[in-house]
Amino acid sequence: MSQAPLSFPFCEPPQVGQLFKVANGVHWLRMPLPFSLNHINLWILEDEDGWNLIDTGIGTESCIEIWRQVMREHQHEKPVKRIFVTHMHPDHVGLAGWLCRKWQAPLHMSRTDYLTCRVMAADSFREPPEAGMQFYAAAGLDQEQLDYYAAKFGGFGKMIKPLPDQYIRLQDGDTYTMAGHEWQVIKGTGHAPEQMTFLCPELNLYISGDQLLPGISSNVSVWPTEPESNPLQDWLDSCAMLKQRLPDDVLVLPAHERPFNGAHNRLDNLITEHHRSLQKLLEACTQPRCVVDLFKHLFRREVDNTVLTLAVGETLAHLNFLLASGKLFRTTDAKGVHWYQQQ
Ligand SMILES: [Zn+2]
Repeated sequence: MSQAPLSFPFCEPPQVGQLFKVANGVHWLRMPLPFSLNHINLWILEDEDGWNLIDTGIGTESCIEIWRQVMREHQHEKPVKRIFVTHMHPDHVGLAGWLCRKWQAPLHMSRTDYLTCRVMAADSFREPPEAGMQFYAAAGLDQEQLDYYAAKFGGFGKMIKPLPDQYIRLQDGDTYTMAGHEWQVIKGTGHAPEQMTFLCPELNLYISGDQLLPGISSNVSVWPTEPESNPLQDWLDSCAMLKQRLPDDVLVLPAHERPFNGAHNRLDNLITEHHRSLQKLLEACTQPRCVVDLFKHLFRREVDNTVLTLAVGETLAHLNFLLASGKLFRTTDAKGVHWYQQQ
């Protein structure tokens, strides 16, 4: 069956701090990010007695100022009653604690992301752990790159306001009535431990977080805390699951870029792209290769220090998938560097 191509019903995103009405009671709010990906989309679902927020923005003073401005313009109308966070990344969870305290509103999040986020925030003021140094040395990083990792360790917590000490657990299959309609919670994995997304069948809207973006392929990474993980399997399983559960004509409200139609088409694209990357890596491993050798086969852009841990993580996600499927094997040399080769 042929699928709808991607289309974008709204040409222009709203100005930072301005609400844009997507449907009755469903508003789109843009916040800036201090990265090359320079924005995030947040969603406000309006009830009679208050707002439900989905994602919060990064924990910077400038984003707090934007929230204050939004509140000044609208607080005479409605208080914030619930705060939902799709996943633990700082652009999504950064201001959750601040908003919860300001409005005395409960935080809703998956258990794994809430706890992982608190651990990572607490780690931010530690020395870089030996396990982390070994993990990146095993990928083939040189001393200058390892020093850069060590110097940057702990950046995560600096972008997040402290989380509340309590939260309400979101699970797949939960339902919430918001903006006058029922929203179903759908769990996706691979990009974050347990990313929670929201489907409203009546409005035919899907708030996708980073689980489904129209142009960006979300980072799927192996991290030093769980070096043998296989997040690409999780990601591909989630793509297949979403194809089953999402209507093809749903309007996707993603955390980055613009709302779009064409969910199935985009999911197929993501699956195909990862399989293409797996094939490229497999072909490159006719000789023993280490992670850094393989960047040029996976990334079009030069991998500089600023994206190094993401590039290592993403490459390892593909390598661990190939190890798990028995297509590659791995050896370790005297310096602790891992080498990958075709079976
Ligand atoms: Zn994310």
